[in-house]
Parts: sequence; structure tokens; C-alpha cells
Amino acid sequence: NLSERLKTVASFVEKNTILADIGSDHAYLPCYLVHTGIITQGIAGEVVKGPFESAQKQVRSEGLEKQIDVRFGNGLEVIQPTDKVQTITIAGMGGPLIASILEAGKEKLKTVENLILQPNVHAKAIRDWAQKENWKIVNETILEEHDKIYEIIVLQKGQMQLTEQELLVGPFLTKEKSAIFHKKWSNELSEWLRIMDQLSKTSESPEVQQKKEELERKIALVKES
Ligand code: SAM
Repeated sequence: NLSERLKTVASFVEKNTILADIGSDHAYLPCYLVHTGIITQGIAGEVVKGPFESAQKQVRSEGLEKQIDVRFGNGLEVIQPTDKVQTITIAGMGGPLIASILEAGKEKLKTVENLILQPNVHAKAIRDWAQKENWKIVNETILEEHDKIYEIIVLQKGQMQLTEQELLVGPFLTKEKSAIFHKKWSNELSEWLRIMDQLSKTSESPEVQQKKEELERKIALVKES
């Protein structure tokens, strides 16, 4: 049974889109999307041998070899222009890694219409990248599963101008202000306050001072939201 996290990622996939799931591991997401009739064909990309083999095994055991092509390669390298991929999903990695995969594969994004991204941490790295590269957030959501909080960011081509606060906490999420959003940021806030407290006990150095200022800035931004 698919996790709530991946089901929520799936809920943003448009019907009949050509999809590539990068870092697919067991290929659970593309398999689910084909079984539920949302897509008819897709690519599952993996750069690590173990997960690549798990993906192949899963696709075979579900009898989906004709629909889902499991490919071995780094990031968007597995996508070819002839695939005509319209949607890319990248889930279950840190925001900076997702952003670096998109940055490295920029050429492959020219014909892509939707990016559905689920960073485990540091979603800000994705919002920073998107703003710089002319992708616009068209939807965001936040959910909790097994005591972990996940954000999902949906991007389409276009421009946006986010404030520093929106880049950190998300423009849609900050408007919606759900209970999970409050929980996430109050958790982060207590963690940052704890670090501030630790830093105040260490000797003053330019590095410590800089770290403190960064934290103070983030604390102020989160308190505003
Ligand atoms: N997407 C699945 C999910 O959300 O449940 C799997 C998440 S798993 C924690 C992350 C996967 O991304 C790993 O299987 C890893 O091998 C793969 N991965 C990491 N960097 C990658 C890259 N540059 N290209 C392709 N796959 C990558």
C-alpha cells in the first residue's frame, strides 16, 4: 500500500501526462499512477544499483514492463527528447539535492510542463532555484506521516517574486497556515532556539557571530508567519 506521502504527490499528477519519476527506488509511485489509470506510460530513473534493481523487480512483478521503463542514470540524464516527458516527480530527498538534480539537468526541462517535488528537508533550496530559473509555484501542500512532516511543491514555467519569508516557509503554505504548518515551524523554532543557546555558550568568533545572525534572521521570519 502506497504511503500517504506518495499518494499526495500522485494527487498532483495530471491525467495522461508523460511522467518521469527520478530517484524512484521501488518505482512505487509510477506503478501506482499506472494502476489507478492516471498515466499510461512513464519512466523510473535510478542512479544506485540496489534501488534500480528494486524498481525493475517491482515493475516486472506488477506486469508493467510495457508501461514503465526503468532506466539507470544520474538525475535527468535518463530522459531523452524523444520521450516527450511532460511531468517530472522527485520525492524523498533533501531540497538541495532535488535542486541540484534540476540544475544539472536544465537542458532536459525545456519541454517539461510540471515539476512535482517532495523535499524531506530544506524546501527553501527548491523555491530559491525555481525563482532564479523562472519556474513558478502553482501549488504547495504539507502533510504529516509517521511523525515526519513533508512539503510538496508543484512548479510550472513562469515568474514569481517571493519575499524572503515566502522562500523559507512557502507562499501557499503561509497563506493556508494549517495545523501541520504551525507544528513544523514551532519544531524548527525550538531547534533554532536550542542552537542559539548552545552558540551563546561557545567563544565568540566571526563564524559563530555569523551563524547567530543567520539564525536570528530565520527566527524573525518564522515568527512573522
Ligand atoms: N522517490 C522514492 C520515494 O519518495 O519514496 C524514493 C526515495 S529514496 C529515499 C531516494 C532515492 O533517490 C534513492 O533510491 C537514491 O538512489 C535516488 N537518487 C539519489 N540521487 C539521485 C540522482 N542524482 N539520480 C537518480 N536517483 C537518485
